[in-house]
Amino acid sequence: MESFEKIAELYARHINPGLARLMKFAGVDGVEIRAEGIWVYDEKGNRYLDFLAGFGALNFGHRHPKIVAAVKEQLDKMPLSSRVLFNAPQAKLAEALADITPGKLQFCFFCHSGAEAVEACIKFARLATGRKKIVAMKNAYHGKTLGALSASGRDVYRQPFEPLLEWFVHVPFGDKDALAQAIDEDTAAVIVEPIQGEGGVIVPPDEFLPFARKLCDESGALLIVDEVQTGLGRTGKNFAVEHWGVEPDLMALAKSLGGGVIPLGAAVGTKQIFESFSDRPLIHSSTLGGNPLACAAGLASLKVLQEERLADKAAEMGELLLKGLRELQSQFPDMLSDIRGKGLLIGVEFVSEDFAALTAASLLQRRVLTAYTLNNPRVIRLEPPLIVEREHIQLALDAFSDALSQVRNLAAILA
Ligand code: PMP
Repeated sequence: MESFEKIAELYARHINPGLARLMKFAGVDGVEIRAEGIWVYDEKGNRYLDFLAGFGALNFGHRHPKIVAAVKEQLDKMPLSSRVLFNAPQAKLAEALADITPGKLQFCFFCHSGAEAVEACIKFARLATGRKKIVAMKNAYHGKTLGALSASGRDVYRQPFEPLLEWFVHVPFGDKDALAQAIDEDTAAVIVEPIQGEGGVIVPPDEFLPFARKLCDESGALLIVDEVQTGLGRTGKNFAVEHWGVEPDLMALAKSLGGGVIPLGAAVGTKQIFESFSDRPLIHSSTLGGNPLACAAGLASLKVLQEERLADKAAEMGELLLKGLRELQSQFPDMLSDIRGKGLLIGVEFVSEDFAALTAASLLQRRVLTAYTLNNPRVIRLEPPLIVEREHIQLALDAFSDALSQVRNLAAILA
């Protein structure tokens, strides 16, 4: 049996002392030992309703039986590739991704994380166009490796590492004029999250992404969409760009692509882009990327996504959750300033960071897992697994209501 004190102490001594302090401060008092579906269990037997889903990495829930079975089968055959022979799970997953992704996306480079998928997209865009400039969005989040960070938009994460990569510019998300001004004949690509996740769940104006597509076509720049968090059904469509009928040239995927079982990322691109480096096939590579175990998970995940119609389910359950949260907003207008989102990517904006942090801590006491968005601590994101049922939504709403009351009472005492 793992004791909480021992594991927390190991975090403080061997992982990250500041993080250990932060987690304790946030009220984390358990060690996760087991999970199933929408539930996580700690060492004391407490059960938590998972409304964070590993920052969107668990669209299929914890240990989806079909995905676990596919992974176990592959584990018994060959988990990692020899890297010499052809490997079937990787080839089949690439075909399945070409089928399910919008437009002309046809080729896949496999890696493990969102940041790596973004790195690959940026490199492929520069290779294919022979241009350098990348137009990114303010408040964007694309990961924390140096290239992905160069495309990201929050100063606290960027500044300590400057100088970052050259030739990156940032425009306000949703601002058509600023985008039009930024794109020129040096522009290799525009990189954008269809809905900003870590930025606080920001849905752009309807005309923004189609306009970005048009500008890219006119200037010969490529459109990279980062669907690391919005992809695989999360927003009520298989991919969020489908809300606006936009067909990207490159798409970054990760998080739930590995089915919540194995890390897996992918940069998916058009034939034209991948052919541009076919004379240099090893110009970008990864030893463990696209390994058979992860690809077996990916393939099973895409099947589950379609068989269980999880995008439709996300749309339906998202409506229910949004409606309930809006009712809460009308009861707590002094605390909640906005409720927004699409499908099951929902942001609850508070009037202050303190209210958001206290409410997340109070939800944790009630054994509901949530977190703030990394670029905007005033926003708590709710993004449960897409297998969530009505009764879970009700449990979360009840806990949210109790948490808001508790924080309001506390604020009144302190005032
Ligand atoms: N892109 C987006 C849109 C993300 O939300 C994230 C992670 N929150 C990333 C990239 C980075 O993914 P990872 O943490 O797997 O590197």
